[in-house]
This record gives sequence, structure tokens and C-alpha cells, in this order.
Amino acid sequence: MSTVSNIVSAATRASNSRSPYFSAEHEMLRAQARRFVESEIKPHGLAWEEQGYVPREVLRRMGALGFFGIRYPAAYGGSEMDALASVVLAEELGRSTFGGVAVTALVHSEMASIHIFNAGTEAQKDKWMPRVIAGEVITALAVTEPDAGSDVKGIRTRARRDGETYVLDGAKMFITNGVLADLYCVAAKVEGAAAGSKAVTMFLVEKGTPGFNVSRTLDKHGWRSSDTAELHFDGCRISAESRLGEEGHGFYAIMKNFQNERTIIGAMAMGEAQTAIDLTLDYLRTRKAFGAPLWEKQTIRQRLSMLAAKVEAGRQLVYHAAWLASQGIDATKEVSMVKAYCGELVNEVMYDCVQFHGGMGFMRESTIERMSRDARVQAIGGGTTEIMLEEVAKRL
Ligand SMILES: Cc1cc2nc3c(=O)[nH]c(=O)nc-3n(C[C@H](O)[C@H](O)[C@H](O)COP(=O)(O)OP(=O)(O)OC[C@H]3O[C@@H](n4cnc5c(N)ncnc54)[C@H](O)[C@@H]3O)c2cc1C
Repeated sequence: MSTVSNIVSAATRASNSRSPYFSAEHEMLRAQARRFVESEIKPHGLAWEEQGYVPREVLRRMGALGFFGIRYPAAYGGSEMDALASVVLAEELGRSTFGGVAVTALVHSEMASIHIFNAGTEAQKDKWMPRVIAGEVITALAVTEPDAGSDVKGIRTRARRDGETYVLDGAKMFITNGVLADLYCVAAKVEGAAAGSKAVTMFLVEKGTPGFNVSRTLDKHGWRSSDTAELHFDGCRISAESRLGEEGHGFYAIMKNFQNERTIIGAMAMGEAQTAIDLTLDYLRTRKAFGAPLWEKQTIRQRLSMLAAKVEAGRQLVYHAAWLASQGIDATKEVSMVKAYCGELVNEVMYDCVQFHGGMGFMRESTIERMSRDARVQAIGGGTTEIMLEEVAKRL
């Protein structure tokens, strides 16, 4: 047997996700994440949906198991794995059927704290990364505003330099972990700096800083176990040492870190889509109509088969984009394709899977009903399908 087929068969045994990109280490992570999902998310997910957030002790447990440090240096408590490892974690959390739980964890470990790691000074990283990785400090990323989402350079939050401090004024919208986070990576424009994107700068703001408030907890269509907030900054004074990276480098940092975020959202979406197909298959095999299981109806099984083929294609595109990133190759085109394709596909899958469940698919007691609500935002958050297609178009 060749090396590649050895690797593929090892990966297949462990996860059914055939790909030459995965090593035994990735598959160990997959098995560990899957165990965690089965034993510590699924039994409690409904209660967390009801209360609107994931309990802090669960996040600490995830930290203790190493899920928040898979990309970060061992010196901070991380395990120094690659982008494919992040994809494995996102896929498995996506398979939990609780998108809100998945996004709570992944925003912290893959989308917000990455700003500290990539742009922070040694002092900032020494101070925060060990506690971020342990799940003791939970992070949020605050870029979107009431009047600026897709158009990041249109943000209006201002940072005025005043001696050894900055004073922040403005508002942020739709911020995941916004209510319960301890530490926020906030985008603002520095007054007096160059215009547009060249003024955008990132800052670290701690919960409890005077002038910084959670103005509203937002009530959502899906992801109900994830807390989402509107934030307000009113004369919020922070030390100049809380700036993340250079003045004016924030836009670049956001765009760079978006590449990881979008790959992760794609992986999560494909985990969700695969699980929806799996549980719909179970349903079709047992539910009878006209004297036979629904699975006997050719039209239904062919439609589900086509969805399975598309999900396989989406999943392989996610793996490939992550592999390119792990090799240090620019994958903006592929990552934008991942976000556009997987964000739409997961909704196509959910639509049909609800349909195949008949009336039960519309009932709050069915898993597919929750999954269909959770999926909707995958085509919106982290870059809408339309914006992603513009990124692809520029590179065709
Ligand atoms: C549940 C949830 C969690 C989120 N979490 C976070 C978070 O943690 N941190 C954060 O900073 N943000 C977060 N967001 C914000 C999210 O990233 C934005 O909602 C998203 O980028 C879209 O921005 P918008 O809502 O302002 O829509 P808009 O930018 O107003 O877009 C509205 C519509 O117009 C389309 N459109 C806009 N421009 C163009 C164009 N040039 N061509 C064609 N169509 C266009 C869009 O595709 C969309 O369909 C979250 C959002 C949600 C819903």
C-alpha cells in the first residue's frame, strides 16, 4: 500500500472523512472532539439554548481539554497544530447539532483571540494567551456596527489619542460572546489618522472598563445558545498599551484573520450539513408511507444522494483551503469560495432535510428544525455570500 492510501485509510477508519491531508494527530483530535460533543454538549445543549448561553464551566473544560489552544504555541499551553486541526474541531462542533455552542467556542479560539496572537506584543500575549487557551478568559471580536457590516472600512467607532491613553466612542452590533466575554478585540478609527481603511486600528478592551457597556442582548432566529450583543463605548478610556498592533494596521489584520474565520465557518457548516443528512437518512429508513419506508422512494433517495455529493465536494474544498493555508500559500480565492459555497449549501441541505421530515421537520421538538434555523446565518456572518462572491470574482 502506498503512503497516501495508508494515510487515507487511517483517516477513514477514524472519521469517515477521507482525505490525504489528515495525520494520526488530526484524527486523535477528531476522536477527542467527537467524544466531547457526545458526552458533554449533546446532553445539555437544549438547556443552553433555553438560557441563551454556554455555561462558563463548559468553556473552561474545553480549555482544559486543549480545544482552545490547538493553533497556539506550547509556551502558552497550546499544541501548535495547523489550520487542518482547526477545521477538524469546527467540523466536529458543527456535528453537535448545536450551532450556538459551536460558534461560542470557535469565535473565542479561532476568530477573536487570533487577533491577540497575531498582532499582540510579547507582553500582551504573555498576559492573555495562557488564560485564553485555558478558557479562563473568553474573547469576542467587535468589528460590525449598526451602520457598517460588509463595508468594514465604513465603521464609525472613533479612538482619540489623549497622552498615554485612547478614548473610544461608538457602537458595535451582532457581537458573538458580546454579553459574557471578558476581553474584546475592538476595531475603531483613530482620529487624525489617514482616511478610510488606513485609520482602522484594533484595541483590547476589558469587560468592566468605565465607558464600555453591553447595551443590548440580542434575540436571534438561531444560534440561540450563543450570546450576542450590541456594545456601546462612551468616553471609554484605555491605556495606549491596549492597542493591538500598529495604528492603521487594523483593516489588514481583520482581512487576514477573516481567512481563518471563513474556513472555520465553512468547516462548521459542512459538519452540520453532514449530520443533517445522517439523521435524515435514519428518519427515511424508519418512516413509512404508502406501505414502505420513505427511503424506498427513488426521488427522495436520489435527492439526498445529490446533497451528499455536494457536501462531500464542499468538505474537500474546506480541507484543501486549510491545507493551502497550512503551507503558507495565499488561499483568499479558495477561502472565499468555501464561505460562499458552504454557507449556501448548508441551507440547501437543511431545506430539503426539513422537507423530508414532513410535518415533524417544522416542530420545535425535532433536531432538524433547530439545525435549519442555525444554518441560516452561515450565509451572512463572517462575510455574506454576495461579498464572498465579489472576492472570488476579483480573482477569476
Ligand atoms: C448571529 C451573528 C453573529 C455575528 N457575530 C459577529 C461578531 O462576533 N463580530 C462581528 O464583528 N460581527 C459579527 N456579526 C456580523 C456579521 O459579520 C455581519 O452581519 C455581516 O458581515 C453582514 O453585515 P450587515 O449585517 O451589516 O449586512 P450589510 O452589509 O448591510 O448587507 C446587507 C445585504 O446587502 C448585501 N450587500 C452588501 N454589500 C454588497 C455588495 N457590495 N454587493 C452585493 N451585495 C451586497 C449583503 O450581502 C447582504 O445580503 C454577526 C452577525 C450575526 C447575524
